[in-house]
Amino acid sequence: MIPISQVKFGPEEEELVLSTLRSGMVAQGPLVKQFEDMFAEKSGVKHAIAVNNGTTSLVACIQALRLNPGDEVITSPFTFIATLNAILEAGAVAVFADINEDDFNLDPKSVQSRITSRTKAIMPVHLYGQMADMESISKIANQHSLRVIEDSAQSHFASQKGNKAGSFDLGSFSFYATKNLTTGEGGIITTNDDEIAEQLRIMRNQGMKQRYQYVMAGHNYRMTDLQAALVIPQLTRYDNTVSARTKNADFYSQELAGIPGLVTPQVVPERTHVWHQYTLRITKESGITRQFLSEQLTDAGIGSGFYYPKLVFEYETYQNRPDVIISDCPVAEKVVTEVISIPVHPYVSSKDREHIVKTIKNALDVK
Ligand SMILES: *Cc1c(COP(=O)(O)O)cnc(C)c1O
Repeated sequence: MIPISQVKFGPEEEELVLSTLRSGMVAQGPLVKQFEDMFAEKSGVKHAIAVNNGTTSLVACIQALRLNPGDEVITSPFTFIATLNAILEAGAVAVFADINEDDFNLDPKSVQSRITSRTKAIMPVHLYGQMADMESISKIANQHSLRVIEDSAQSHFASQKGNKAGSFDLGSFSFYATKNLTTGEGGIITTNDDEIAEQLRIMRNQGMKQRYQYVMAGHNYRMTDLQAALVIPQLTRYDNTVSARTKNADFYSQELAGIPGLVTPQVVPERTHVWHQYTLRITKESGITRQFLSEQLTDAGIGSGFYYPKLVFEYETYQNRPDVIISDCPVAEKVVTEVISIPVHPYVSSKDREHIVKTIKNALDVK
């Protein structure tokens, strides 16, 4: 079986984790600090604050903005459920804008149309490894004095015109097991805002500014040195990881080009893609359903996934909530029925790639 995602660790991780175990310093300590410094530098920001997962990371970002009840956050409905859950946990109102077909991310024009007097923040999601159009979204945010929280859980170090994901205002990342970088569970927040960074560090540690000096009702959002030990070597190798993913993606895009009803993912000009997922669209014109393709892939020993099978607001539990404002998102509503992701991770071999392409062409009856 070629899995849709695969995690492997090397001797560098084993060594650093083992030396951390032997040091006895297994909670937040010097390795977390080292990881934060490395991550901030690679992101081109002043501060990185490591936390225990990518969902609390989003929650902490919203909490740091000190919103009032009824304040609105505009986000994408085409995302992992954590994006919406974080907004609701932080006590804000979720408002949805539509997405673009080319990058699967928030459409700035649609964002603009959803702004009200209660809007306080925009939370774009950089899906599959490519950033949303942050240049336009930042411009809109500045015009309306809104904050921006980039949900970059899937797009570590992707960029637009050289500006990295998470470098615009507040950035939130995840290191869950399936992400491009992993600590099992983990997250990090990036920002250039000194005051927000300080608030986040205090909030993460029970609201404690100095020993037993509590300045707010905080939380325990801390990452551990064991987790940092697992990810520091991956961070050192990260550019190679992305190269391997890109090689697989380029092969698929070349081999699967020009097939009616099969849309390969686009890399928008002036952006880089870190290929967290390689996501195809199966449109009506193909004559098959994505379910059929997924079954053909399974029969051929190939993992695949629908990320995501529904828009987040389509689940019944979010209907009829006053803090979830559902509106028409025609592009997202169509695209969500068409997407299927295939294995693009660094452990897909060239033989695997060929097998995957052949299986897809067979399913579509293409020579
Ligand atoms: C994974 C993910 C999250 C949540 O991260 P966790 O570390 O799993 O809590 C949030 N948003 C998106 C888009 C994700 O893919």
